[in-house]
Amino acid sequence: MSAARPPSRRELLAFGWFPFFRPKHISLAGARFRILRKGHSNRRYLVIHGNEETARDVLVRHMETHEGTGYVVQGNTRNVMVEGLLLDPNRMFSRVGAEASLRRLNRDAADASVHRALHVLDHGRKRLVHALTPPRGGLTFALHNNSESYSVENEVAISDRTSLREPRNPHAFFLCTDPRDFEVLSTSPYNVVLQQKAPPTDDGSLSRLAASQGFRYVNLEVALGQADRQREMVWWLEWNLK
Ligand SMILES: [Zn+2]
Repeated sequence: MSAARPPSRRELLAFGWFPFFRPKHISLAGARFRILRKGHSNRRYLVIHGNEETARDVLVRHMETHEGTGYVVQGNTRNVMVEGLLLDPNRMFSRVGAEASLRRLNRDAADASVHRALHVLDHGRKRLVHALTPPRGGLTFALHNNSESYSVENEVAISDRTSLREPRNPHAFFLCTDPRDFEVLSTSPYNVVLQQKAPPTDDGSLSRLAASQGFRYVNLEVALGQADRQREMVWWLEWNLK
């Protein structure tokens, strides 16, 4: 395209040069994500649980100074609605995982309504998975918060490798799916587990999907409210994991 002739509207559209034409949201059932875009990095960021407010604040601030595409769930509840039923959004990445979550969270639901919800999820899952999968060589980095009931101790038995440098702070840890990322993260002063092989039971989580599809994924867990600690670990990863 020569500098003398301004690009046609068709050309602009073909090259996607109108940033305002790119969607600002992506949804799967009741899980609606705001899309934050900055630059052209192959990094993908995710906050999937609406009640994990520390993680959301840390990610939104982080993306002011770092390139990548971020997906931030809207709303303030952990679970989302699908066809009138509750669902943990980090269980919707497979049909079997979603069904287990729907049955657990909606004990009295009729089979027909569970199947209706699963049908809706089946319809839209591919699109969301595509958005959350990093480009070749890239990394998807998910930020979570936890409370007393969950820590790295829940993951040790089902992990391929572990590096527990901070056993007195089990709530703060990295979970990764790529052994090369584990090599790097385990040089940090933090707790790290590797889950490279997809666990035999498919819980529908994004980490399970990443392990089975073989893409690079890191999950950062920190206790809710510990923003400084979460920021510190995000920075450590950014500096050391390329
Ligand atoms: Zn979470």
